[in-house]
Amino acid sequence: MNNSFRITYIKGIPVEIHVSWLLIFFLLSLSLSQSYFPLMVEGLSPQVYWIAGITTSLLIFASVLTHELGHSFVALNEGIPIKKITLFIFGGVAQMEAEPDSPGSEFKVTIAGPLTSLALAVVTGALYYLVLIPGQIISEAIFFVARINLIMAVFNLVPAFPLDGGRLFRSIVWFFGKNMLKATRIAVLFGSMLSFFAMGLGFVVIFFQGDLWGIWLIFLGWMIYQAGQSSYSQLVFKETFSGVKVSKIMSTDLKTISPDATLDQLADDFLHYKYGAFPVVYGSTTHGIVTLQNLKQVPREKWPHTTVARILTPLKETMVINPDSDAAEVMMKMATQNIGRALVMEENGDLVGLLSRTDMMRLIQMHMVLGEE
Ligand SMILES: [Zn+2]
Repeated sequence: MNNSFRITYIKGIPVEIHVSWLLIFFLLSLSLSQSYFPLMVEGLSPQVYWIAGITTSLLIFASVLTHELGHSFVALNEGIPIKKITLFIFGGVAQMEAEPDSPGSEFKVTIAGPLTSLALAVVTGALYYLVLIPGQIISEAIFFVARINLIMAVFNLVPAFPLDGGRLFRSIVWFFGKNMLKATRIAVLFGSMLSFFAMGLGFVVIFFQGDLWGIWLIFLGWMIYQAGQSSYSQLVFKETFSGVKVSKIMSTDLKTISPDATLDQLADDFLHYKYGAFPVVYGSTTHGIVTLQNLKQVPREKWPHTTVARILTPLKETMVINPDSDAAEVMMKMATQNIGRALVMEENGDLVGLLSRTDMMRLIQMHMVLGEE
């Protein structure tokens, strides 16, 4: 998740907002202040509607955050560190450093979210029905928040992985089958069927009832389908590389280039070897790495008299890993930080290999095609 900015820390957990969230915040404030509130409570000034719209949107935002904090606090309690909470267009996500290691743990961490939303719905609903006077703008705002929290609790319980309901479903299958990967596959399959059902229903609604709301069903189904597929391949990815050392999968037939070489020579090497990058080495010292992108930034007419040393990415800005590191961890880090390749070096500074993300992806594809053996 790039394009996010950090707004605060809660109990040491960074809370970030994705730029897409700003759009939804604006749209929500706009529709609340321009159409929802004027319909519910008539005759107030535009400023009051705007204040109500923005405040309600902020409360919705706080509700989503509280839902994620519900997951996070229970996760921390279960000994699972939380990397960060990100709020984006369709809600939020609390990124765990690791998956729960038992079905019981997963069940507790997962149920905490919808239960938090349900509790918020009950509290705000009670406030509306027992304390506030219906028809006033504050009451209607609270009622709106109550309904959204109820919808959040119910929607998240739909058993389509990776929604909370799908995770609960997985933890139950996992509990009885004792196999997490298998349980995930079943949960994802079930979720895919549900999402296809939602999409089908969407088409029916559009074509037979002429109601464009069907588009939302299709969209939602598609999003859930995609999310299920990607979380499944992430899991396969972790299984493929868990316990595998970097030295097992790095490429070792290294072609290096000297920092004194000209960019003309470098271009020849790129054409000849078809690699995307070369480690820059002089004698036994590694200076960094040079990529096709580095080369592209220099105008062609300067290539004959520019050296590789001028354009390389220095070692301190390159990801350097130990051959004994865990391949899965390294790959996750490269994926999240959007790093294309890393140099593999021994403690003493000897260059022993190169690890690139595209090579990894090929390995995963092979693994998925050839099965689980
Ligand atoms: Zn949740």
